[in-house]
Amino acid sequence: FLMGKVNLFWFRRDLRLNDNAGLYHALKSGNPVLPVFIFDTNILDKISDRTDARVSYIHNCIQQIHSELQKYSTTILIRIGDPVKEMSKLVEEFPVETIYTNHDFESYAIIRDANVGRMVSQKGIGFKTFKDHVIFEKSEVVKDDGTPYTVFTPYSKKWKAKLLNKQSENEEQSSFYFKSYPTEKYFHNFLKISPYAFPSLDQIGFQPSKVVIPSIDVPTSLIKNYNEQRDFPGINGTSKLGIHFRFGKISIREKARKAFILNETYLNELIWRDFYSQILFHFPYVENGPFRKEYSQIKWLNNTEDFEKWCNGRTGYPIVDAGMAELNQTGFMHNRVRMIVASFLTKHLLIDWRWGEHYFAEKLLDFDLASNNGGWQWAAGCGTDAAPYFRIFNPASQTEKFDKNLVYIRKWVPDFDSSSYPKPIVDHAFARQRCLETYKKALSK
Ligand code: FAD
Repeated sequence: FLMGKVNLFWFRRDLRLNDNAGLYHALKSGNPVLPVFIFDTNILDKISDRTDARVSYIHNCIQQIHSELQKYSTTILIRIGDPVKEMSKLVEEFPVETIYTNHDFESYAIIRDANVGRMVSQKGIGFKTFKDHVIFEKSEVVKDDGTPYTVFTPYSKKWKAKLLNKQSENEEQSSFYFKSYPTEKYFHNFLKISPYAFPSLDQIGFQPSKVVIPSIDVPTSLIKNYNEQRDFPGINGTSKLGIHFRFGKISIREKARKAFILNETYLNELIWRDFYSQILFHFPYVENGPFRKEYSQIKWLNNTEDFEKWCNGRTGYPIVDAGMAELNQTGFMHNRVRMIVASFLTKHLLIDWRWGEHYFAEKLLDFDLASNNGGWQWAAGCGTDAAPYFRIFNPASQTEKFDKNLVYIRKWVPDFDSSSYPKPIVDHAFARQRCLETYKKALSK
């Protein structure tokens, strides 16, 4: 059928219609907009668990967008396959002028987007990308000499200064970096078209997951009390919004705006997210190895039996085992406990941090390459802003500080004080000494 030029909006890690930067620009572009989502088989084929909760989650988000769009007599076009191939078919099927989408900084995504961009430009089609996933990206917050920050505190100071600076420049632009994109004003610019068939999860090769996704509605009181409660895993004191941030179900600008008013500690956590995202952007090699290259000399023991015990939460250290049980059963683990289990794996068991990173990537609902890699390198001591290697978490004193009444441990390891519970896999004092010696040896080379 005949139609004039259209623009495509390609959803990826921004699965919402409201306050979506790329979608906003597409809708304002003048041409009718056809939204597209591609279930990427390059990614899906690597997922061994066919009930993966994140795939169900994405499917759900897209389905919600699909039903919402029907109210505007439009639809979302779904494809399953390799994004470059699917995009090249789409631009043959529709008279596309420009493809709009939001930035993604993972190495796979950078290559994918470069390939799509090249393919469409050969056909005279535009490819426009926007910042949406973070408040500041790439080199927006750098040192005065233009080099990237590798330490969080000065980075966060500059981040805040930049934000406030812009806010005071002129009233009109107040909250410039936090402003929301009023996409809903332009919903009449979607291409009017009858709905396409929506694939079931089964058609994508997956089954529904039984894992419960944390709610998107977080009480204001939780954010207000965040700085006092967030370190205690026995308290429901963190937002559990990680998965919604990861897939852009919520807008970072909206949440940062609220955090700015309600709780600076919470805002700082959102800044950590930007921080690790720019680390991955400036130092892409961290995806495969330590930020501090001298740490590649460490002789990891990599004992597979120990690793399995760690994965299954049977190390005999209750706080470690509770964390792993929470992860295995819910896809979530409290941040304090993530630090403890990661330290335990790398320092007590001397297992390569990449093994733990990989396990987390499979299990975490909120898995995000930049933050996960940053967290693991921090714990192993080889990262940008890492604690020095001789600071080794003591699971007992961490428990004493953060789970004194054993609320968290009792919840996740009900048998921790019974005879069925395993003896510690390794003695703390011995492991500590062994770790110090191993790291020292590697680093003195
Ligand atoms: P809240 O405490 O409510 O914080 C709000 C949001 O701020 C989080 O959802 C997250 O988007 C962001 N945030 C908070 N802390 C950090 C941080 N240290 N670094 C970056 N962003 C942060 N976070 C991930 O989003 N994905 C991961 O794969 C991931 N892996 C980690 C691995 C290790 C070993 C460690 C130590 C930390 C990891 N983190 C990761 C950071 C942090 O643990 C989680 O973001 C947080 O626990 C998620 O829970 P929440 O949503 O309740 O966070």
